[in-house]
Amino acid sequence: MNEINSNETEAKTLNFIEEIVESDLQSGKHKSILTRFPPEPNGYLHIGHAKSICLNFGLAQKYGGKTNLRFDDTNPVKEDTEYVESIKEDVNWLGFNWANEFYASDYFGQLYEWAVVLIKKGLAFVDDQTQEEIRQTRGTISVAGTDSPYRNRSIDENIDLFTRMRAGEFADGAKVLRAKIDMSHPNMLLRDPILYRIIHTEHHRTGSKWCIYPMYDYAHGQCDSIENITHSICTLEFDVHRPLYDWFIEKLEIFSSHQYEFARLNLTYTVMSKRKLLELVKNNYVSGWDDPRMPTICGIRRRGYTPESIRTFAEKVGVAKRDNVIDLSLLEWCLREDLNKRANRYMAVLNPVKVVITNYPDGETENLTAINNPEDENAGSREIPFSKIIYIEKDDFMENPPKKYFRLSPGSEVRLRYAYFIKCTDVVKDENGEITEIHCTYDPASRGGNSPDGRKVQGTIHWVSAQHAAEAEVRLLDRLFTEPFMDNIPEDKDYKDYLNPDSLKKVIAYIEPALKKLQISDKVQFERIGYFCVDKDSTDNKLVFNRTATLKDTWAKINK
Ligand code: ATP
Ligand code: MG
Repeated sequence: MNEINSNETEAKTLNFIEEIVESDLQSGKHKSILTRFPPEPNGYLHIGHAKSICLNFGLAQKYGGKTNLRFDDTNPVKEDTEYVESIKEDVNWLGFNWANEFYASDYFGQLYEWAVVLIKKGLAFVDDQTQEEIRQTRGTISVAGTDSPYRNRSIDENIDLFTRMRAGEFADGAKVLRAKIDMSHPNMLLRDPILYRIIHTEHHRTGSKWCIYPMYDYAHGQCDSIENITHSICTLEFDVHRPLYDWFIEKLEIFSSHQYEFARLNLTYTVMSKRKLLELVKNNYVSGWDDPRMPTICGIRRRGYTPESIRTFAEKVGVAKRDNVIDLSLLEWCLREDLNKRANRYMAVLNPVKVVITNYPDGETENLTAINNPEDENAGSREIPFSKIIYIEKDDFMENPPKKYFRLSPGSEVRLRYAYFIKCTDVVKDENGEITEIHCTYDPASRGGNSPDGRKVQGTIHWVSAQHAAEAEVRLLDRLFTEPFMDNIPEDKDYKDYLNPDSLKKVIAYIEPALKKLQISDKVQFERIGYFCVDKDSTDNKLVFNRTATLKDTWAKINK
């Protein structure tokens, strides 16, 4: 598992599922393809689901087919319409439209009738054993299981009991319906698997109409079959379920969908189990499902990711047949590639120190012209006000610089981006020795940042005019966990032991006035700092920005 794979070279060759689809279309096995994305509405979607969505919808798009969105709502205890709505929003946001919106619960009637068919064929029986007894008699991989004492009930008795299970005569757990296959089958999943269990719980769609609910294995393939899904794509751990998937289709003599498995997406520094994500939310380790540090689609969206960057990521990850762990920096790389082309540049100072330009006229303001995006001619330009007092980053000044320090220091000259060359003359300190003010002179002939006489300055730094700047809250987001391989942590540790204490730092920044007009979710680049997006916590008086990503991969350096 400990393999970092950022398959950047995997280019235009077909993945194994595309090969299968092309061959099925060429042989005439299918005239067109129909895929489905089958989430259980028991949580919010995460980046792993995004991979599955891009795969299912992407395949259909590529081959002129269609994709259904099917909610796998077979367990009323954990499911809710809140999740249904968020899932639809997320799939749409990723840029996909489903041909049909279906629910496994739409098919409860048909699934029930098919269970009766299996009973009548002598292929299913009602078992009165407790769950514990069923578990204990399943055997192990090397030891056969033992038949239930109820296995040889007559067909009539089974029909009668199953009808009464449905009618609500029995309590939860009193009985189950099981397939009658083989208690010594080498594949444990075929040792008389459970098809139905009794759950007296309101279902978010069918209310109290049903009190028996089909198990995943019994429902999934038959739902695929009802919808005529041609290629049912799921993650690798379901390969052992495929014989059972096929068994039902064969015994019921229904449309033969075929299941294909691919490696699930795992990401470094990330947990994706719904149980863990729910725990992070419920116990306030994060602010909610859409906390911008969460790997949920709504979290990633709020952080400032674009659907395009996620689709590119899914494409680059490719479709593998073997489990691996993808480096989170690949996702960030896809984001930078996309935003580099689209995000306008602005200046913002996150850790300010005041600079007074002593030879600049008091009370004067002038507007300088800045290019919005050098990568996009159509992005145009804007004006930035300049005046005598500005802020620069504390890091861009050093009183006693080492060699090759090209930013500001006493006696040195730097370029203020789009403005002037300035030279530091002296500094003012408070009683603790902290620098409170840097004094500089400027060269009026260098307006626009151009050298007046061919003399060179090595460094260019960003700035904002103190008098014109607005204050903003900037949330410096980082990875939620400190450990790359979250699935491999030691037994005696908990995943929460690896929460990154520095995953969220809030600072007050000074931003150039043009930023004030931004709307929630707008994405920008703060020059020399990173990509940021306007958070929904912003108010009319104060913008809040999330750092989506730094400009370069800072972790690659730190962790080596
Ligand atoms: P659980 O079954 O624990 O509730 P799940 O992550 O399997 O969680 P589902 O709602 O059943 O959630 O998943 C919907 C679809 O998304 C399935 O086809 C599943 O295989 C796929 N999927 C889930 N997690 C990943 C992942 N990490 N990578 C790729 N596909 C995934
Ligand atoms: Mg699942």
